[in-house]
Amino acid sequence: MLTVKLTEYYRALIDWNDPQDPLARMTLFAEEESRLMLPERPDPIDPPQGNGISRVLVHRYPDRALLLVTSRCAAHCRYCFRKDRIERHEADLDDAELAEAVAYVAAHSSIREIILSGGDPLALPNARLLEIISAFRRIPHLGSVRVHTRFPVYQPARCDTLEEVAKQVDVFVVQVNHAREVTARFVQAMARLRPHALLYNQSVLLRGVNDSTEALSELSWALARAGVTPYYLHYPDQVPGTAHFRLPLAQAMTLIGALRGRLPGYLLPRLMLEIPDGSGKIVLEPPACQPVGEQTFLLRSPLTGQGFEYCESSGFEPGVRD
Ligand code: SF4
Repeated sequence: MLTVKLTEYYRALIDWNDPQDPLARMTLFAEEESRLMLPERPDPIDPPQGNGISRVLVHRYPDRALLLVTSRCAAHCRYCFRKDRIERHEADLDDAELAEAVAYVAAHSSIREIILSGGDPLALPNARLLEIISAFRRIPHLGSVRVHTRFPVYQPARCDTLEEVAKQVDVFVVQVNHAREVTARFVQAMARLRPHALLYNQSVLLRGVNDSTEALSELSWALARAGVTPYYLHYPDQVPGTAHFRLPLAQAMTLIGALRGRLPGYLLPRLMLEIPDGSGKIVLEPPACQPVGEQTFLLRSPLTGQGFEYCESSGFEPGVRD
């Protein structure tokens, strides 16, 4: 079971008088974690034959590979899908593993991007991050270095000393799950990274944290103010002891459908599900578009709920279908 680990900065954001506080729910131990559900397993998104090329390198999609550089984090999220790895305190990437990963990527010209993940890569010192990144930068066909991190949420001051690293990174994907995590300090941290890299956010859809259209639209608008584009909203993986965070799948799809009518397209994250057999992610679209004939579709307005017929050969039929 994941031990509680939390920064002083984040502790100060929690409303300790509110037993339902969403920030506390994400980071403090809850009794429900002792309840295990049948489909849950410690490695919920890995294929049965194993996790990847080596202990630290995963190559699931042709154009990108994932490197697990550490199992350390600034704090521990109770819903984390890498709980098992983190709790085992898996060792950081060592030099031999780095050389092996670089050789693998160099030998596979289809790989255009290396993604540093963990744990949280920003738990490593800058000197080590620069060693890792520069080793990959020498590969001619590699076009992008991406870093996945939740450090700016738990400890935004980490970005105050990150400039040399940020200059070598093409994309930062942060993980913000609630609008209250977008503080003035977080906005300042993003402003330090923005001159150097693209900034995206991927959230996790969590019951009791952000499972309403209000919470999700507030989150998207807060990210916009910080100059970060909402990108993915992940349906939580089936990690042991995390059932209390998962909504029914149909409810999750309804929620993202309702959000579509409230947010401009550039602030709308895509609802994603990791297929539990390691087959990768799929986009969960709500039933907004259904075929009703060979070339005819029923389109449903997320704003009004009304249906319209659209015929591919004859164009849009503005008449309301129901
Ligand atoms: S920061 Fe990421 S890897 Fe670390 S505990 Fe949270 S979700 Fe897991």
